[in-house]
Amino acid sequence: MGSWPGRRAAISNYPWKQSSKPHKYHNQAAFVFILRKRKMAKERGLISPSDFAQLQKYMEYSTKKVSDVLKLFEDGEMAEYLQGDAIGYEGFQQFLKIYLEVDNVPDHLSQALFQSFQTGYYIEDTVREDVVCLSDVSCYFSLLEGGRPEDKLEFTFKLYDTDRNGILDSSEVDRIIIQMMRMAEYLDWDVSELRPILQQMMKEIDYDGSGSVSLAEWLRAGATTVPLLVLLGLEMTLKDNGQHMWRPKRFPRPVYCNLCESSIGLGKQGLSCNLCKYVVHDRCAMKALPCEVSTYAKSRKDIGVQSHVWVRGGCESGRCDRCQKKIRIYHSLVGLHCVWCHLEIHDDCLPAMGHECDCGLLRDHILPPSSIYPSVLASGQERKTSKISQKTVDDLSLSTSEALRIDPVSNTHPLLVFVNPKSGGKQGERVLWKFQYLLNPRQVFNLLKDGPEPGLRFFRDVPDYRILVCGGDGTVGWILESIDKANLPFVPPVAVLPLGTGNDLARCLRWGGGYEGQNLGKILKDLEASKVVHMDRWSVEVIPQQTEEKSDPVPFHIINNYFSIGVDASIAHRFHIMREKYPEKFNSRMKNKLWYFEFATSESIFSTCKKLEESLTVEICGKPLDLSSLSLEGIAVLNIPSTHGGSNLWGDTKRPHGDVHGINQALGATAKVITDPDILKTCVPDLSDKRLEVVGLEGAIEIGQIYTKLKNAGHRLAKCSEITFHTTKTLPMQIDGEPWMQTPCTIKITHRNQMPMLVGPPPRSSNFFGFLC
Ligand SMILES: [Zn+2]
Ligand SMILES: [Zn+2]
Ligand SMILES: [Zn+2]
Ligand SMILES: [Zn+2]
Repeated sequence: MGSWPGRRAAISNYPWKQSSKPHKYHNQAAFVFILRKRKMAKERGLISPSDFAQLQKYMEYSTKKVSDVLKLFEDGEMAEYLQGDAIGYEGFQQFLKIYLEVDNVPDHLSQALFQSFQTGYYIEDTVREDVVCLSDVSCYFSLLEGGRPEDKLEFTFKLYDTDRNGILDSSEVDRIIIQMMRMAEYLDWDVSELRPILQQMMKEIDYDGSGSVSLAEWLRAGATTVPLLVLLGLEMTLKDNGQHMWRPKRFPRPVYCNLCESSIGLGKQGLSCNLCKYVVHDRCAMKALPCEVSTYAKSRKDIGVQSHVWVRGGCESGRCDRCQKKIRIYHSLVGLHCVWCHLEIHDDCLPAMGHECDCGLLRDHILPPSSIYPSVLASGQERKTSKISQKTVDDLSLSTSEALRIDPVSNTHPLLVFVNPKSGGKQGERVLWKFQYLLNPRQVFNLLKDGPEPGLRFFRDVPDYRILVCGGDGTVGWILESIDKANLPFVPPVAVLPLGTGNDLARCLRWGGGYEGQNLGKILKDLEASKVVHMDRWSVEVIPQQTEEKSDPVPFHIINNYFSIGVDASIAHRFHIMREKYPEKFNSRMKNKLWYFEFATSESIFSTCKKLEESLTVEICGKPLDLSSLSLEGIAVLNIPSTHGGSNLWGDTKRPHGDVHGINQALGATAKVITDPDILKTCVPDLSDKRLEVVGLEGAIEIGQIYTKLKNAGHRLAKCSEITFHTTKTLPMQIDGEPWMQTPCTIKITHRNQMPMLVGPPPRSSNFFGFLC
């Protein structure tokens, strides 16, 4: 590629080096011209939201990168289509075909796109309207492409540095801004507001004031002026550009299509938007009005105060929250509901409602869109003082979550929700959908997509937030570990919505053993009434002896719930294998219990663990524990008193008078280790006393009986704050229900830290033992 003098005459001059008035005027005029042209294009309906959605779909499935395609045009088989730096419609179609890997891109789509790039183009001093600039096209698609923002920055730079002098001049930078604005427009931002902000930023980019931008300046700018990144890497899955998030749904009551207003039909399938509850026939989806839900403020005027967002229909209660009279929802599409506060009203009652939305009953948990805004819209001063601008390029891990700023409503506790949609069968996915509606979808993270990090990063500086983990105990352990690693300035308290079976931790924290479709709004209200407890967590170090034998990998290095050696673990081991082999037999909690029983009884044949005390020694806080009078098949170390779905191996303690916590503290003052059986009798498990309960298990039958609640407990051996095992043969072990076979080794368990956990409100019934369970 050479350089073509005058080819970008349509827009010229440095936006931030406006040495003289005429220049400034010229520049703005050019810009207004382009804006107007874009606006006209929009009015002519050139590329609609559904076209844009289609385009993104294509890109999702395509394996090609813009850079690959660009090569073909620059010096490959497509070179014939290139006229200067421009391509005609035919070349453009070829570009799309190769880039999107689609043989027949719909004509209206490619035409609309082509026209959107036509801004008037100079080739050898002649304006050509029938071509588009290849760099513009490439820049546009590369902004949409996945990938690291750093790489995109470098790519866009090289794209426009056509003379390869390592420097962008004013008109080149301006063209990039225009492509960014184009993106912003699809995200429905207020472009006229954005333009001066971007220009100001561009001025700041030119660190040495040379009037042009070097690659180093450009990269540093992209990394330190977050707003660029908003446009370079905004998470596209939450598209925020008016697309509904459809899912098929059958309705148990008569429902009317938001588009054609005729009945969907009882028991017939329609589509319902997860975000706004807009409902349509399958056939009406293409013509649906854009989704009203915007997850963040896209314009300065939207920051701070939240307005109601009314959507027709969706009045499930059938009663008007304004006049308290019935809404006749069974005969036609009537009424309005607000997607944030969930008020339901008559159409006629709308004028009597104010504008301001307080987010309703769940306001304590909600981050309304008015509280989330692109950092680019923060005032200039705030932008400069933002933390990220102090980072150097080297220690930056660029992330889109840093592109959005959170400023929560005061006196609220925004909830960060993590959902493991694979937990608990279909329940997980349903919970994900429901929270997306109840809260701001930006508060709800699907763990299977990117794990916990994006959510933790997004909420990092939010004051007083809480976390809700929806999943099994394993998922909770994963989140706690991520919180550990994230090194947060403030460690938020964690609540649990247990999905699936065997959730001992959730049970101990009074969130129940497994969610069965209860009202999530009610659960969120319980959360408001919950209290913080600082739960101990324990490190496990396994030091194997040198043997030929191979061990399974140790599943975790931290104990949140319990650890065991011997029969208990071997049962869990076999259970685990059976469950993987015959998942259909394990589809309910009741059946799981029966299986445990069956294994436990057949376990008596399985004699690996007979006379465990002969192949194992135990030290508690440095002193050996005498096991000689016992005939053990297992030893369990408990942080929480519930194991394997609600069994209490420690057993009930007659509820002592007074405060349990106080009693434990009192004991602790005199003895770190308790082995005296009389004192042990009075001990109550406490997950925040920095001590573990050690229990001996005498026989397989006994354990089976404990699991099925026919019998209550094992032998209380000790309460201590440190424990070491030495084993002399291969034994089954488990941590938090994950079993493995371990060759002879030394195992050290020590206190690691405490995590703030939320304990649910006490249940109504008094059938409640111990401190928490
Ligand atoms: Zn919607
Ligand atoms: Zn319809
Ligand atoms: Zn509202
Ligand atoms: Zn009313």
